[in-house]
Amino acid sequence: MNPNTSLDILRKIFGYATFRGEQEAIINHVMNGNSAFVLMPTGGGKSLCYQIPALIFKGLTIVVSPLIALMQDQVIALNGIGVNAMYLASSLERDQITKIFLSIRNREVKLLYITPERLINDWFINFLQSIEVSLFAIDEAHCVSHWGQNFRPEYQKLNRILMHFPDTPRLALTATADKFTRIDIKHYLGLKDAREFFSSFLRDNIVYIVHEKNNGKKQLLSFLSTHPNVCGIIYCNTRAKVDAITEFLINEKYPAIPYHAGLPNETRRANHRYFMMNSNAIMVATVAFGLGIDKPDVRYVYHFDMPRNIDSFYQESGRAGRDGITSYSIINFGFKEILELNRMIIDTESDMLKKQYALLKLKHVVKYCDSNICRTRLLLELMGEVTHDCGKCDNCHNPQILKDETTLAQKILSTIYHVRQKCNSGHIIDILKGKNTIDVQIWEHNKLSTFGLCHDITIKDLRRTIRILYSHEFIDIDHATSHLKLNEKSISCMKGLTYFYLPQCSAINSTALTKTFAMRTMEEELLYRKLVSYRASIATKEQVPHYTIMHDKTIAELVTHKPTTLDGLLTIHGIGKKRLERLGDDILKIMSNAN
Ligand code: ADP
Ligand code: ZN
Repeated sequence: MNPNTSLDILRKIFGYATFRGEQEAIINHVMNGNSAFVLMPTGGGKSLCYQIPALIFKGLTIVVSPLIALMQDQVIALNGIGVNAMYLASSLERDQITKIFLSIRNREVKLLYITPERLINDWFINFLQSIEVSLFAIDEAHCVSHWGQNFRPEYQKLNRILMHFPDTPRLALTATADKFTRIDIKHYLGLKDAREFFSSFLRDNIVYIVHEKNNGKKQLLSFLSTHPNVCGIIYCNTRAKVDAITEFLINEKYPAIPYHAGLPNETRRANHRYFMMNSNAIMVATVAFGLGIDKPDVRYVYHFDMPRNIDSFYQESGRAGRDGITSYSIINFGFKEILELNRMIIDTESDMLKKQYALLKLKHVVKYCDSNICRTRLLLELMGEVTHDCGKCDNCHNPQILKDETTLAQKILSTIYHVRQKCNSGHIIDILKGKNTIDVQIWEHNKLSTFGLCHDITIKDLRRTIRILYSHEFIDIDHATSHLKLNEKSISCMKGLTYFYLPQCSAINSTALTKTFAMRTMEEELLYRKLVSYRASIATKEQVPHYTIMHDKTIAELVTHKPTTLDGLLTIHGIGKKRLERLGDDILKIMSNAN
């Protein structure tokens, strides 16, 4: 292989100057006929690892992907830069499908996207055996694992099929770093001896922020007001909440659309499409809106409710900023949600092992939310990677002030002790506040030494302290009964051997943190808007997503570098030969008019 070929393709077809991270090594490895397992975070650039070999190989590259929508997006984007890629879906007309097979037979197609169901179809395997297949790429490979929420049983059958093609390299790709999932991928996809390429999961263009919930809707509006006219996702934990928040935002004149499993298929499809096509859509969704959201220009992912699993949180927040531009991950969380989510896991998961796994993953989210160290560092640590402080997240930017509240902790802990660990947080607070509720009277808890001991502290502050005691592991909660329980650390704190430090009530002003969003001069802003509306007009005419015409990053570079010639345009991120031919003259005209 000519060593410059892949770099040439990267530059001339994709319009990018250099490879990122392990891309080049992976491409070379595959080009030499080897299989590999690629673990790379969302937005890391996995697709190029099989798209570039596909363009160099003589035969066909098959890409297995779990969702039609995902395939469509990739095929549109590839066709847009002049690459002949196609996808097979049962929704296509018969003669369309026939045409696809004919083009493959005539060696016109370089990449064919299919679902796993298609690959395990006998007729299709026969067909593949009659042509030259150069590479199998198995995208979203974590779908093979029953640990995740995207489990697809058909993925587990792929290995049997791929055994018919022992000499064809296979590439499994995923962004799910969870240890158990990795083991499943290697096992089920027959990759035990394949080389592994692990990239860092650091997403250094994402600014991580966590808010304690305190009038969630108001906090959401305050965030949105600093991010007008950009694309974002707001996750809620229930369908009802999705509907309520969408309605609330529409009333506030935001272009919000809902997505959850309870909506008719047609509405879901239309809303997904609207989101993909526009550069300012706000998608309010449950986690049903997940797999295959492959949009580069999502500027924020806002968890209106607390996520239930640290790995899914990483995936969800990772949908922001895939194009490398600064983007935000925000979580709004409260004690009530922690209790509810734990309860839900206890009630719904019958398999003991899976229950423990889910509880552990939730515990990690709680730890992340209530932490006062760098969020990026902690998030990566929870996923098994060591990194440095990011200098950008809320905790780095605005370190929380800690106050020694060991005495307060001792009052709470000894109340838990006196009620023999048989009460929930509400009852403990009633006792500490000195409230003579019926329950307090029935159990004669008004006779305890701690009764009324915290009358001068607000209920909200007591609730917050109990939450932080829990997330910092000074107490446990029996989630079946919601009773607060003591552990070794509680005892040590009660004896005065371990101190409890409480972060001062969140003074984090994330609005200030996120205001640095786009610092452009008036003229630059004007040019930016002109280019955005030019992009929208072409996208609307061609009925394709805005970002397939030009990425936000391309527009941002045009605005800062202000090239004046066609050659100058070629140095801009995302502008290759094809785009230059299509858009070059128009862009230069817009740029020169703006001066
Ligand atoms: P993943 O599948 O890993 O989530 P993608 O393959 O969709 O990520 O790539 C994410 C974004 O990064 C895309 O917009 C893609 O065009 C861009 N990209 C990928 N590789 C490079 C590169 N070498 N240089 C610049 N941009 C790149
Ligand atoms: Zn940080």
